[in-house]
Amino acid sequence: MSVGLVQAAYVVAALFFILSLAGLSKQDSARAGNYYGIAGMTIALLATIFSPSTNAVTWIVVAMVIGACIGIYYAKKVEMTEMPELVAILHSFVGAAAVLVGYNSYLHAPIMSSAEHTIHLVEVFLGVFIGAVTFTGSIVAFAKLRGLISSSPMNIPHKHKWNLAAVVVSIILLVRFVEVGGTVSALILMTAIALVFGYHLVASIGGADMPVVVSMLNSYSGWAAAAAGFMLANDLLIVTGALVGSSGAILSYIMCKAMNRSFISVIAGGFGQEVAVSSDEEQGEFHETNIEDVADMLKSSKSVVITPGYGMAVAQAQYPVHEITEKLRNHGVNVRFGIHPVAGRLPGHMNVLLAEAKVPYDVVLEMDEINDDFTETDTVLVIGANDTVNPAAQEDPASPIAGMPVLEVWNASNVIVFKRSMNTGYAGVQNPLFFKDNTHMLFGDAKDSCQHICAALD
Ligand code: NDP
Repeated sequence: MSVGLVQAAYVVAALFFILSLAGLSKQDSARAGNYYGIAGMTIALLATIFSPSTNAVTWIVVAMVIGACIGIYYAKKVEMTEMPELVAILHSFVGAAAVLVGYNSYLHAPIMSSAEHTIHLVEVFLGVFIGAVTFTGSIVAFAKLRGLISSSPMNIPHKHKWNLAAVVVSIILLVRFVEVGGTVSALILMTAIALVFGYHLVASIGGADMPVVVSMLNSYSGWAAAAAGFMLANDLLIVTGALVGSSGAILSYIMCKAMNRSFISVIAGGFGQEVAVSSDEEQGEFHETNIEDVADMLKSSKSVVITPGYGMAVAQAQYPVHEITEKLRNHGVNVRFGIHPVAGRLPGHMNVLLAEAKVPYDVVLEMDEINDDFTETDTVLVIGANDTVNPAAQEDPASPIAGMPVLEVWNASNVIVFKRSMNTGYAGVQNPLFFKDNTHMLFGDAKDSCQHICAALD
């Protein structure tokens, strides 16, 4: 393939990636978005493999086959609830790749003019820094999401001063690295600092802010890829990295707004936030209900709102939930869904599950669209949701989730909470909703409970 043809293929691939992002932003065009992404990546890979500047094609193909086998295995095996962990660990690979590309590019730098050499050294330094932060940050995010380490924030004394010191020392090392024409000791020292910095930055962020961390690491991995693109002088990698980096940053910003968090505070490892005290102690008496009573209540309701959460994903209850919806709609009940922006464990998690079960899009509403309607709702079914329906976010300023907008389900006439126990949700905070007079707990696996309710509705 000629150089011109490779560049043309890269432009086409970049256009496909832009179409892919546009498609993925809406449920009904998401499938097409995926196909655009696949097409773009296929063109990009073929153009890179057959580019005149590519050597050792055999090694590339061997690596791709091994990578593809591992990828297909995990893609088939992974549960929907494990997706955020998978995404987090994949981000760490991008970070590691940027570090390795940086070192390789430093050790095998081509002959270049003095100005070009300086630019190259800056690219190497920044690429390795971003890559190392992304690498350890993503591993900590993976461990937190998998429950391997506690989701509560790490609080070492003067933590923000340590973060600031890491950034300042890295800037001094960058100046030194460029001034003396690149000393490997400065590069190695900065890599060690960046690895610890990435670890500390994510470890300092508490459970309730993890959604922002995942999208923020997504953004970092994009910038790490863009940095690798500069080092490899690969235009497509620069464009793709910038697309991922900026879309991840926009998503992080949107999620911060949705959760009423300061974007700067979260990306700076919780800077400026008070350390909240979480309590998982029960707060009074709760009322228990049973399948028959819930079915009767639903049949006599005119308006029902279902607010799903992570537990619906764990139980895979979306199919019986859809059946309940259809039965109630056939009885003339107005059934709608209220989706919190961080319900589940990844952005859009609930929308994906409901779409999978073929729930019509027009009854699936965002939190802001449904929150005012709870006062006129007869029954709310809280299916496996906890933090996203927790009134403590509004009522308790000391709560770790204080200030986070939540679904105000308690304003409805009746609330039924489907869960297995009185355990807390992801943020580890007890939920006063469970102890309100108009709330009834339906204990058990959400799928079993929904299936039984479905049968009882007949
Ligand atoms: P939560 O994690 O707060 O609560 C889930 C509830 O589901 C638990 O109380 C659990 O209770 C119940 N549950 C678990 N399994 C089952 C089952 N099989 N049947 C019935 N119930 C079950 O969920 P939310 O969706 O309300 O909140 C999401 C949380 O995750 C937020 O804190 C958010 O910040 C965080 N997060 C979100 C991410 C995102 O991008 N969306 C990413 C990372 C974190 P029990 O054990 O008693 O059954």
